[in-house]
Amino acid sequence: MNTDFLIKEADRCVKCGLCLPHCPTYQLARDEAESPRGRIALVQGWAAGDLQADGSLLAHLDHCLLCRRCEGACPSAVNYTALMDAARASLPRTTPRWLPDVLADRGRQRIAMKLAAVAVKSGMQTWFPSAIVRRLLSIAAAIHEIGSASPATLKNRYAATTTLKGEVALFTGCMGGTVDMAAIEAAIMILTASGYAVSIPPSQQCCGAMHAHAGYQQRAAELKSINLTTFVNKSYEALITLSSGCGSYLADIPGLDSPVMDAGAFIQQIGGIRSLPLTEIRRTIAIFFPCTLAAMGQQKQVMALLHDLPGAELLELQGLGCCGGAGLHLIAQPHTGEQLVRPLIDQLAASQANIVVTTNSGCALQLQLAAKKAGLGISVVHPLELVAEQLVKTKG
Ligand code: SF4
Ligand code: SF4
Repeated sequence: MNTDFLIKEADRCVKCGLCLPHCPTYQLARDEAESPRGRIALVQGWAAGDLQADGSLLAHLDHCLLCRRCEGACPSAVNYTALMDAARASLPRTTPRWLPDVLADRGRQRIAMKLAAVAVKSGMQTWFPSAIVRRLLSIAAAIHEIGSASPATLKNRYAATTTLKGEVALFTGCMGGTVDMAAIEAAIMILTASGYAVSIPPSQQCCGAMHAHAGYQQRAAELKSINLTTFVNKSYEALITLSSGCGSYLADIPGLDSPVMDAGAFIQQIGGIRSLPLTEIRRTIAIFFPCTLAAMGQQKQVMALLHDLPGAELLELQGLGCCGGAGLHLIAQPHTGEQLVRPLIDQLAASQANIVVTTNSGCALQLQLAAKKAGLGISVVHPLELVAEQLVKTKG
């Protein structure tokens, strides 16, 4: 138990409260224990031996989305994510280990989706006493139905299709072959058309964020070590991610010698899409910026990229900041997620938009499921899928 770290990091909090207006769970509950400052005080009290790790304390910590919005507002630079990860590793764990294990492994994901489709269709899903299992089955079945579960074979390297400017590595993550395949193909197409060779080392693994945030630090460290060996000392201009949840976690790994960049932000940095032959899109496009893209500090570049999409009318979705997807929250804490996604769906319903772009697969899934439940015919895609679609039309 690392109480020294917990006490030291929690002591950095001066209790100023500047983070409170930025915290989605505090905005929902208006309860100090649902705020960053309150959660830090709970950890501090428990680490000092003044508080018991009872159900109430654990629930307040579990409700935290780890969206990192509080970190951006904190004048004392409290490393809130590290504090909460360490606290969850030291306290009794509330998320079963098998959950991140299943989600972080492509083979197990595919088996889960096939089983889920059968279980949900036959009604067997309701037989399971665990709410987490029932929720996992319904989400896995929905992904199966959306039809994004078709894994394609990826090559280890794609050559640039114009004059070579450099080489990047693409992080496909654990969900890469499951929910992000179209985004991966789009990124390869645009990066290679922009003069970059794209390397996709097959030894890469899940980033480890799900394990770390659920308190399983040893497994997170194992995954981190494999990814470090995979990506260091290779002279990549950037390690490109298509899911900012992975990106923000990878960016904090000491020793990675390539900058971790969101795919859209990198393309904007190397000159954007203006020189690409794109047809006009003529649509209203809603944009949802994930908390994790803000944590990476790359929101402006993605917005600038989308502004250069010819004929696009842009609408930024606001809500309470976070969509409530937040990694395992989507499965383990659906009630908070439903409250957080509702204003976004209301804004969408009142708009002309029939497509949403976002840079994180968890947010995309959360928005897709909520839109479907609300009866909205809206598709949710990665920004690069839209760009690639316009590029394909030009070529075709
Ligand atoms: S990480 Fe997000 S939900 Fe958690 S305390 Fe900070 S702002 Fe609130
Ligand atoms: S902004 Fe930072 S120092 Fe102030 S209360 Fe929040 S976590 Fe503590």
